[in-house]
Amino acid sequence: MTRKILVATDGSEHADRAVDLAAEMAVKMEGELTIVHVLIEDRPGDQWTRLAESEHLVRQAAQQAPKIEYVPGQLAHFFSRIQSTEEHDRLVAAMGDLIVDRAARRAQKAGAGKPETKVLAGDYASTILEAADKLGADMIVMGRRGLGPLKKLVQGSVSSKINDHAACTVVTVR
Ligand code: ATP
Ligand code: MG
Repeated sequence: MTRKILVATDGSEHADRAVDLAAEMAVKMEGELTIVHVLIEDRPGDQWTRLAESEHLVRQAAQQAPKIEYVPGQLAHFFSRIQSTEEHDRLVAAMGDLIVDRAARRAQKAGAGKPETKVLAGDYASTILEAADKLGADMIVMGRRGLGPLKKLVQGSVSSKINDHAACTVVTVR
């Protein structure tokens, strides 16, 4: 019986749909839900600038980098002004926390109780797979795509790697 469900989120709309489905399944199966986010390692101006739908995350995380003024709608400009590695890392960590908190609220709204959340660092797919092993997850739920720039029909590299290597059932949400 499926009891432990891990859902991976990068904060994208695709991942939001995965969180919704994972929460629904956790409720129906009376399972435990764990939300996992692996910190985004891209340099400023890459994936985060495409996170347009989650601009509010950047705005909130920007409070962690108070020297930089955040102007709504100008993510690329915002990131281009980050000077130090420390500032960048602090911002990425703050956004990681916001991403899992937001996902946890979504899951709770769907009735999933209070899910466990994990913010981890490392290679995205390997870290998610390791987390699943450690947890003894029966199922990994994720989006088919994420924050990447690829065309709609292409499966993302993280979901593709997890699909290929997971020891448990994998559900890929479209
Ligand atoms: P690519 O990253 O290869 O350019 P993409 O971003 O469109 O393409 P993936 O990164 O494979 O696609 O994302 C697919 C799913 O994998 C996401 O919806 C999410 O569920 C999960 N995922 C991706 N990155 C992370 C991450 N950093 N932390 C947690 N889950 C992630
Ligand atoms: Mg990606």
